[in-house]
Amino acid sequence: MDIQFDRQHIWHPYTSTINPLPCYPVSHADNNHLYLETGEKLIDGMSSWWAAIHGYNHPELNHAVESQIKSMSHVMFGGLTHQPAVELCKRLVKITPPSLEKVFLADSGSVSVEVALKMALQYWHALGEARSKFITVRHGYHGDTFAAMSVTDPDNSMHKLYKGFLPEHIFVDSPVTGFWQEWQESDMQGMKQCIEEHSHNVAAVILEPIVQGAGGMRIYHPEYLRQLRTLCNQHNLLLIVDEIATGFGRTGKLFACEHADIEPDIMCVGKAITGGYMTLAATLTTKKVADTVCSGEAGCFMHGPTFMGNPLACHVATKSLDLLTKNDWQSKVETIEAIFKKQLPSLMNLKHVSDVRYLGAIGVIEVDQPVNMPEIQAFFVKNGVWIRPFGKLIYIMPPYITPASDIEYLIQMIREAVQISAHFQ
Ligand SMILES: *Cc1c(COP(=O)(O)O)cnc(C)c1O
Repeated sequence: MDIQFDRQHIWHPYTSTINPLPCYPVSHADNNHLYLETGEKLIDGMSSWWAAIHGYNHPELNHAVESQIKSMSHVMFGGLTHQPAVELCKRLVKITPPSLEKVFLADSGSVSVEVALKMALQYWHALGEARSKFITVRHGYHGDTFAAMSVTDPDNSMHKLYKGFLPEHIFVDSPVTGFWQEWQESDMQGMKQCIEEHSHNVAAVILEPIVQGAGGMRIYHPEYLRQLRTLCNQHNLLLIVDEIATGFGRTGKLFACEHADIEPDIMCVGKAITGGYMTLAATLTTKKVADTVCSGEAGCFMHGPTFMGNPLACHVATKSLDLLTKNDWQSKVETIEAIFKKQLPSLMNLKHVSDVRYLGAIGVIEVDQPVNMPEIQAFFVKNGVWIRPFGKLIYIMPPYITPASDIEYLIQMIREAVQISAHFQ
């Protein structure tokens, strides 16, 4: 392919146009492997950013897209409906917490977060209360559109650059007690004080349940989420959980909020929903929130993307959810977690490693200096793995179907990579 054209004309995620980091040309992907045009076969450690949970080129998912395309690729969702959307939403209502029974289909994770925030605002507006603030925790990530960015970690998303343009919300220090550590009551203090002080003006608390993903790959104690639910009830605040990264089994539960046994008022799902085939997301809420929103001045929820409920995406998502159950995702994720548990802690003995953490099919190695991206990426590719670190974080979230030997090989390559000083800045 014309890699020079790519370098000169195409933006890649979070990449400079002045001196872009190298991009590797993929020719095809199959199972848990990516194949490069230059001949390398790479074991995929990223699931294409949490999405490709069943691996690539899956015969049943291929078939789902092919068969759907023959009846319809897309029709507008305003005034029309179709079997693919109905089937998908039936499953979503069934597998998410019982009180979530109204589904809004969105076209990407960020949009589903925008929708969640708008629902919360319209909810309070309909009740005649002027509540315009959201509370969230530092190190969060909720997407790159403006409202999503406004509740994303202020340092990571460069809030200062957008000052005056970005709504200003309330940030609390993120939980520090790790998932596997003993719960520290003091962890709740900041959130508790914040809620007590600001609740009258707050529409909702929004956060990623249990695993904070792109904002720092932090894995926190379920008790935090349990107590947060109680606080929201006591102070009459809505709770929005962003399950876009954690949903569909990644953390060892179908949804991460199950670790804390709580139900949110609004939930966002995305990423793995179509098994990595198409872009799709959804915002689910309770009957109470939905009915209140629609009882207000607008008489409806003011949102409706052009590609809402896209039949291709809905149908492949339905088949992906069926595959999850059929293939016993839970035992696969447990097997991956058991390998992390056995092998990751020993990496702590290595020079640059400052922390290791894991949960379900997520393994994180934190190092003490930012990595040298082009160098470490080239090392990984040369050694047959696709792992894309950021900053001080080297992490893997492989497809659930990855064989144990490939998980072990991914860890081995990280072990070797962190022992080479040229891999640090
Ligand atoms: C990726 C992600 C988003 C944004 O989803 P996009 O599909 O990239 O817009 C939002 N929240 C979380 C937790 C995510 O991981």
